[in-house]
Amino acid sequence: MMTMKCPKCNAESKLSFVGNSYEGPRRCWSCHELFTMVIRNNLLISCEPLSQEEFEKQQSVKALQDKFKNQ
Ligand SMILES: [Zn+2]
Repeated sequence: MMTMKCPKCNAESKLSFVGNSYEGPRRCWSCHELFTMVIRNNLLISCEPLSQEEFEKQQSVKALQDKFKNQ
């Protein structure tokens, strides 16, 4: 788990993930901006703005991946 700062509004939020890496879409709770994030070894590698359409696409891909992981 790590604390993320929104690149747009600087609002802090807690991000929990398994292991020490994460890759996927995020929505800022404060400004509702959409991002795709890559975290490796608890370090933020990239944080790119996303369109609503891309966000939904990535979310469904991620949901599918998580489903497979749990089986
Ligand atoms: Zn924000």
